Amino acid sequence: MKLNKKFILDAVEEHGTPLLIVDHDIIRQNYAAFRKHLPRIQAYYAVKAFTNEEIVKTLFNAGCSFDVASMPEFNMVYECVKYMPPQRRQDWIWDKIIYAHPIKSESTLRELDKYKPLVTYDNREEIRKIRKNAPNAGLALRLKVPNTGAMVELSSKFGASPGEAVDLILAADKAGLTVEGISFHVGSQTTNFQNYVQAINLAANVFQEARSRGYRKMNLLDIGGGFPAPYDKSVRPFRELARTINSELNRLFPKDIQILAEPGRFIVATAATEVSQIIGKAVRDGKLCYYINDGVYHTFSGIIFDHCSYHFESLKGGKKELCTVFGPTCDALDVVSMSEMLPSRLKIGDVLTSRNIGAYSIVSSTSFNGFPSAKILHINN
Ligand SMILES: *Cc1c(COP(=O)(O)O)cnc(C)c1O
Repeated sequence: MKLNKKFILDAVEEHGTPLLIVDHDIIRQNYAAFRKHLPRIQAYYAVKAFTNEEIVKTLFNAGCSFDVASMPEFNMVYECVKYMPPQRRQDWIWDKIIYAHPIKSESTLRELDKYKPLVTYDNREEIRKIRKNAPNAGLALRLKVPNTGAMVELSSKFGASPGEAVDLILAADKAGLTVEGISFHVGSQTTNFQNYVQAINLAANVFQEARSRGYRKMNLLDIGGGFPAPYDKSVRPFRELARTINSELNRLFPKDIQILAEPGRFIVATAATEVSQIIGKAVRDGKLCYYINDGVYHTFSGIIFDHCSYHFESLKGGKKELCTVFGPTCDALDVVSMSEMLPSRLKIGDVLTSRNIGAYSIVSSTSFNGFPSAKILHINN
């Protein structure tokens, strides 16, 4: 099924708008590209980017594993993977799920314990909580690494500094827990490829220091998420980033170290297209303004939470002018774009589309002001 004009108009007719069309062929292609260019790395899709059962199923069938960060996310993925036969090792669940939130409530840890999960941590209080509530968990230390130039910065909230990393590994060991390896996150939509180089080098130093201080049980490196989606031409090709990552990994980490990554945005961003309709039209201060039935409290929430911007295409042609696109709510914050070139003759009911909006969009949609979230339409799944 191809997402052409006819398909979109038929879908609007059948389902109404706002509509979010998710193309599972693209999800599979993105996952395949990730595996092809990073052959040493097992991908754990970060389900928070687009939390959806159909997407989990498609990726599971393609061989993907999953990164979860809450109990509902864990349960959704577990429902999908639990029928897998136990594999080589008893802790097969590690092959399919990592619980990658460094801060977990005690009740979450108690629930997780029976699964013998792999979890991340970055501080002493967390060691105490894990020892008390989830003694069967395996651990990965989340390391603080530079997030320079990422669209979404994370290093101020999470991560042990490189200077305290080995102390935290030894402290967990002393508490009777096993630290399996190191994880980090370079920041989301990282177009500065040096972040990965620096982070991999920092992690290699921690591995070495841990060994020299007598801790030899680490066997995994988790290079996190941050892989950029090709939103525009300024994003260099993924294969260039992959080449850089591969050469650092091969230089610094022997083959017996298992390497994983947690791509979220890269897998789903390009797989979804938002379809809205014009519900109002006005000229304000000389500028043409279109009001549509989706906005920043809804599918375009990434404008606020993800620091992302989106653009529009009109299914109808015509002479274009610079306009503003507003969302449907009463709040003046609900501005989707201040600078879109759109045909000036569009009418109420005309259809606009916005591509590359699969990541961090509908997952943070609200029902503010009574406007419901977009309906999701899966194709090619
Ligand atoms: C959000 C998140 C991811 C996914 O990040 P992307 O930038 O979407 O690839 C991966 N790992 C962790 C721990 C996260 O918090």
